[in-house]
Amino acid sequence: MREGKISVQTENIFPIIKKFLYSDQEIFLRELVSNAVDASQKIKTLSSKGEYQGELGTLQVRVELDEDAKTISIIDNGIGLTGEEAEKYLNQVAFSSAQEFIEKYQSENSIIGHFGLGFYSAFMVADKVEVLSKSYQDGGAIKWTCDGNPEYTIEDIDKEERGTEVKLHISDDAKEYLSQSKITELLDKYCKFLPVEIIFGTEEVDVEGEEDKKETVDRIINNPHPLWKKSPSDLTDDDYKAFYRELYPYSPAPLFWIHLNIDYPFNLTGVLYFPKLSNNIELQRNKIHLYSNQVFVTDEVKDIVPEFLTLLHGVIDSPDIPLNVSRSYLQADSNVKKISSYITKKVSEKLKSLFKDDREAYQEKWSEIGTLVKYGMITEEKFYDKAKDFLLLKNTEDKYFTMEEYREEIQELQTNKHDKKVVIYTQDAQDHHSYITAAKEKSYDVVVSDSPLDNHLYQQLEHKESDFVFVRVDSSTTDKLIEKDEEVESVLSEKEQGKVKTIFESGLESWKDKIQLQALSPNDHPVVITKPEFMRRMQEMQAMQGNDLGGMNMEFFDIVINTNHPLIAQKLTKMRGDDKKKDFARYLFDLARLNQKMLKGNDLSDFIERSLKFVE
Ligand code: ADP
Repeated sequence: MREGKISVQTENIFPIIKKFLYSDQEIFLRELVSNAVDASQKIKTLSSKGEYQGELGTLQVRVELDEDAKTISIIDNGIGLTGEEAEKYLNQVAFSSAQEFIEKYQSENSIIGHFGLGFYSAFMVADKVEVLSKSYQDGGAIKWTCDGNPEYTIEDIDKEERGTEVKLHISDDAKEYLSQSKITELLDKYCKFLPVEIIFGTEEVDVEGEEDKKETVDRIINNPHPLWKKSPSDLTDDDYKAFYRELYPYSPAPLFWIHLNIDYPFNLTGVLYFPKLSNNIELQRNKIHLYSNQVFVTDEVKDIVPEFLTLLHGVIDSPDIPLNVSRSYLQADSNVKKISSYITKKVSEKLKSLFKDDREAYQEKWSEIGTLVKYGMITEEKFYDKAKDFLLLKNTEDKYFTMEEYREEIQELQTNKHDKKVVIYTQDAQDHHSYITAAKEKSYDVVVSDSPLDNHLYQQLEHKESDFVFVRVDSSTTDKLIEKDEEVESVLSEKEQGKVKTIFESGLESWKDKIQLQALSPNDHPVVITKPEFMRRMQEMQAMQGNDLGGMNMEFFDIVINTNHPLIAQKLTKMRGDDKKKDFARYLFDLARLNQKMLKGNDLSDFIERSLKFVE
C-alpha cells in the first residue's frame, strides 16, 4: 500500500479564486484592510506579552490611491513579514497564519483572518501585487512580487519602518476602483467600525482655539470603538439612539433595543433595535448588519436569524459565523443554529421584561411591536411558546388583554356549547358598526384586528390554544355567534315560514341558494348578510400570500331572513300582491347589502332611486 497527498495546484486555483471564491469583487479592499488590521493587533499583542520590546507607535492603516500610476496601496505598521514568512503565508493558499497565531497566543485582540484566502482576493482586481514588508523581528526588509501566475519573486529592499505595504496594480477590467469616491464608498461600507484607525486622504479642520484657521489632517474614516463593543453600563439611552442614527440616518427613532454580549458557547456581540414597524413589513426587512470582528460582512442575515427577526435593525458581530461560504452550509452550521436560538431567546426576554416592568408603556407601543410579536408567533415555534404570555388583544374600548386575561373576561358570556371561548373580532369598526352594536347589546366583547397578520395568528391560536375560536362579528347573526343550545322560538308556523321563503326566493332569484330562515330576536335586523368565518378567512389568507384565487375569487355569504322580525312576521305575511311582496323582500335585502358595503354600481343607484320614490 502507498500513501499519498493530494496537492492543490495554485495554477488551478487562481482562476477559481478570481471567479468564484467571492461573489463580490469589491471585497478585496475589506480583505486587505482586515489583514492590515490583524497585523496591527498582532504587534499589540506581542508588545503586551513582552515579546516585542520596541516602540509600538500609533497603529494605523493607510489606504492610498494613485490614479495615474493605477495603484491602490494598503499600508500598516503592524507585525510585518520576514522573507520566510512571506513565502510561507502568502504562497500557500488556504494556510492561514491567523489560526496558528491565535492558537499560540490566545490573543485578546481579535484577529479577523481565518481562512488563509483573503489575501488572494487581491488578484480579483490586480494583475500585479507587490508586498513590501519589514518584520518586527530583526532582519532586512523584503519585496514579494507576483503577477497572478503561480511564479513569484522575493528580493531584499530598503525599508525603514516596521510593517507592510500591499500595492495593487489595478487591472484594466477593474478600473472603476481607481476612484476616490469608490474607495471611500467601500471603506465606509466594510471598514466603518474596524478596531484600528483607517486613514484615507485628508480633510480640513478648524484649528483649536484659533478662529477661522484651518489645518489639513489625515481623514480617519472609521469609528474604532463602536457602541456594541462597549459595556452597557457605560452607555446612556442617548448613546444608543445616536448610534441608531449613525446606522440608519433616515429612520425614525427606535422603540427600544437589546445589547447582545455572549462569549460561550460562541462569541457574539451586537445591538438589536426594535424599529417602529408599520403594517408593510416587506419594506423594513434586512436592515441588520452582520459583522465579524468589526468587519462588515453582509446585511443579508436571513439564514442566521429566524425570519421574523429580520424585521429588527442593528448589528450582530460574531467571529463564529463562517463567512464566504454557501448559504446552505450556513443553515446547517451548528453555531449558526445556536446563535439563532440565542437571539430569539434574548428578544423574547426583552419583550417579556418590558411587558412586566411597564405594562402601560408596552401597551402604548403595541401597535408597533405587535407586528413583530405576531409574525414571530406565526413563524417560530420557540418564540410562540414564550410570546403567548405577552401577546395582547385590544377591544373596541381600547382595553388590552393577554390571552389569559381574555379567557377570564369572556368566560361567562362567550363560551359556546363545545366549551370553547369565542373571540369576536372586527377588522373595521366603522364598516361593522351595526354588527358590533348588536353584539354589544348582548354584552359581548369585540376585539379589534388591525394587522394583516391577524388571520394567520388566529389560525395559529385556534390550533395551539384549543379552547379558543375566533369569529368575525359578521360571520353569522348575533344570535348565533356563540353557538348555544337554547333556540329562540319562532313566532311563525312552519307553513307561514314556507311562504316567507317562497317570497324571498322569487324576489332574490339569483341568490336563491344563499337564503336561510332563522328565528332571531325581533331586535335583530329583518335580513342579515353573514360571511362564514372559515371561507372568508381562507380567502383573505390566500390573497395576502399573493395567490391567484382563480375560481375561488367569489364572495361567500349567506342571506339570513329573521322570521321573528315584525317586518317579516307581520308586515310581509299580510301583504297583498306578488310584485309588492317581491319588491319589499328585495328592499330589505338591499338594506342588508348596504350594511355590508356590498351594494355597488347599478344596484346602488337603483336602490337610491327606489328609496326616493318611497319617500315621495
Ligand atoms: P488570513 O487573513 O485569513 O489568515 P490571508 O490570505 O488574508 O489569510 O493572509 C495570509 C497570511 O498572510 C496572514 O495570515 C498573515 O500571516 C499574512 N499577511 C497578510 N497580510 C499581512 C499584513 N498586512 N501584515 C502581516 N502579515 C500579513
